[in-house]
Amino acid sequence: MATEINYSISQPHPDNLGVWRKIGLALVAVGLAILAFSFGSGWTDISGWYLGICLGSILTGTTMYAYGLYMWQTPGIKNDSVWMNDISNRSTWAWMIGIILTTFYILLYWFPSSIGLGTEEAGNRGFVALFDPLSLFLKGKVASQWFAYGVLYSLAIISLGFKFLLKYRHSRYHIWRTTVLMICQLFLAFLIPEILEGMNQEQAYFAKDLKFFWPLNYYFFEDWHLNAMAEGGSMGMFFLVWGIALFLIVTPILTYFLGKRWYCSWVCGCGGLAETAGDPFRHLSDKRLSAWKLERWLIHGVLVYIFVVTAVVLYGYFTNQSQIFGIDIYTWFRKPYGFLIGAAFSGVIGVGFYPLLGSRVWCRFGCPLAAYMGIFQRFKSRFRITTNGGQCISCGNCSTYCEQGIDVRWYAQRGQNIVRSSCVGCGVCSSVCPRGVLKLENGPEQDRINEKPILIGRDDVRLL
Ligand code: SF4
Ligand code: SF4
Repeated sequence: MATEINYSISQPHPDNLGVWRKIGLALVAVGLAILAFSFGSGWTDISGWYLGICLGSILTGTTMYAYGLYMWQTPGIKNDSVWMNDISNRSTWAWMIGIILTTFYILLYWFPSSIGLGTEEAGNRGFVALFDPLSLFLKGKVASQWFAYGVLYSLAIISLGFKFLLKYRHSRYHIWRTTVLMICQLFLAFLIPEILEGMNQEQAYFAKDLKFFWPLNYYFFEDWHLNAMAEGGSMGMFFLVWGIALFLIVTPILTYFLGKRWYCSWVCGCGGLAETAGDPFRHLSDKRLSAWKLERWLIHGVLVYIFVVTAVVLYGYFTNQSQIFGIDIYTWFRKPYGFLIGAAFSGVIGVGFYPLLGSRVWCRFGCPLAAYMGIFQRFKSRFRITTNGGQCISCGNCSTYCEQGIDVRWYAQRGQNIVRSSCVGCGVCSSVCPRGVLKLENGPEQDRINEKPILIGRDDVRLL
């Protein structure tokens, strides 16, 4: 019998994952299995080994997987098949992950007892109890749901940060920026506040991320927070002055010199998660003009909203009133903002919808701090992305991978500088451009906005 010869030039077999990726996936599965099991378990007094194995296997597994995926390829752009991958093309897996993340956030914010948060007498159980040993070690008390969340949040940024580092290892900008993001999350957002809280158990403000300030930190000017800082001696004063200085002095100055990227892409925890865990979903951002219009109304609306809420809260604080014009301040101002913006928008939609709407929904449509910095970036900053229009081949990579939905190619084709309030300076548009057209720069303000771009057409070069 003649041997059948397959003349097909297409590869009939799926790609071999290779040993690194297989072991990596197995380790991640072990860690996720422990987490999943903890939700349904009645664990109370659980050994720290479980958490150690869980975190260790996820961290090691993700790094091994990324190593197997990227290190055998030459450095450079690596976004192959994003629209053919079930997780990143809004397909079944994306919906499942979106639903799981959203459900987790709903339980975390509004039903913490269902994930194991206990009372002082009964203690924690299940998922929250899994984190008790680490919490006891760091601050001498059992975990809250926020402690558990902080550990997982930091784990996501660090483990997927390693993946991002390997993927974008051809770019010094990404290596530095991602390293700083990982360090900021681990130390400023997690370890230092947790240890400070352990040393000052009664002072709630110690438990907060050191780089989290108003208007992102919407409770900064609430009475309990102001009182705690006022009664907190020199450390309390330090936190008060630090929080106000970050908003009034540090942010305008740094945004003037560097653009809002200094915070959104180098320091912020929300940006850190978007850049690392959210990287596979960045192409899902909506590029339509209607999305841009919505973005401008929504994000500036939230900025106005937090100004109004804070003004009312401060009025209540200084006049010692719980009402303004007969309206209860807590019920009608503080509580709705915390529910709608602080929890539903930033958490449930902002992260839960990564696989469906992209990784920067919160940063683009809702973050009041991004809106505040965006005003400086648009009107008073040295930051811009310059374009060498003559080199552009209109491939559209830059627009596709802009997580803020900016149509970068439109500017590149015209040779026009990109000066947009929403740009977070992630630098990915520049890294994925095969022609080196785009460059993130800080320079003189003069001629930064060149609305008379040079068009290089078929027949001539024209100044519009
Ligand atoms: S324009 Fe470029 S640097 Fe700015 S957000 Fe988009 S991809 Fe990032
Ligand atoms: S990625 Fe580069 S070459 Fe492609 S459209 Fe954008 S600027 Fe032009």
